[in-house]
Amino acid sequence: MAASPHAGGDYLRLFREETEWYSEMLLGAMLPGDWWRGLPHPVRSWLRNTLGVYLLYYVTSFLWCFVIYYWKRHAYKNSIPSTEAMKKQIIVASKAMPFYALVPTGCEYMAESGWTWCFFHISDVGWPMYLVYLALYLIFLEFGLYWVHRMTHEIKPIYKHLHSTHHIYNKESTLSPFAGLAFDPVDGILQALPHVIAPLLLPTHFRTSIVILFLEGVWTTNIHDCIHGNIWPVMGAGYHTIHHTTYRHNYGHYTILMDWLFGTVGEPEDIFKKD
Ligand SMILES: [Zn+2]
Ligand SMILES: [Zn+2]
Repeated sequence: MAASPHAGGDYLRLFREETEWYSEMLLGAMLPGDWWRGLPHPVRSWLRNTLGVYLLYYVTSFLWCFVIYYWKRHAYKNSIPSTEAMKKQIIVASKAMPFYALVPTGCEYMAESGWTWCFFHISDVGWPMYLVYLALYLIFLEFGLYWVHRMTHEIKPIYKHLHSTHHIYNKESTLSPFAGLAFDPVDGILQALPHVIAPLLLPTHFRTSIVILFLEGVWTTNIHDCIHGNIWPVMGAGYHTIHHTTYRHNYGHYTILMDWLFGTVGEPEDIFKKD
């Protein structure tokens, strides 16, 4: 049994029950009263995703900062960015988050409407095919995220009007975990588009795709913390900090494999060899 274009109403009911359950859990826990139950389903999903993104961003970023700038500071020897720089990043990210929430809401809506190749149970395809599809999904994301990011640099008006907002933080001393989601809202949505396109092209386990989308919030926190893990081919902060300082290296997202393939890798030991 494959994905929803061939699967009929049962899948669509399961997707909808799943997203209703997410809304019940989060909105039920965070909002007073039950006025939100009267909202149309897509608006309720958007509201839940907006609150979810805020929660994820604040909890992850504040905890991350507490660990690297306070609790384990002696281990990481990180220079602490000014409070002013971090405040700006928090404001830029906070303004954009209701717009970012349109991405998971759109992904859910597409699956619930039967437009995607999403499947619901891993047993529908079996574990071996689940892993094959997951690998294809991640390769597609890495390819798509690399090229969208590279294009937002190479198409100059897009860089100037959108992506430059994220590149105000162009030195180690101004980058912090809070920069992870500090984008112009349109840029943030553009950078996430491969997440929307992937389930239209590939069999995708619905719940896994939602988890991956939200884990982006944790991943982008990690690659902006300036801690140079440098584990090839993972796109750690060592590589992504170079992206912020040279603007023409390391456009990749989870790894530098696409940079390696398309000739844009910048190695930390070359760029930071002054240390
Ligand atoms: Zn960039
Ligand atoms: Zn960045």
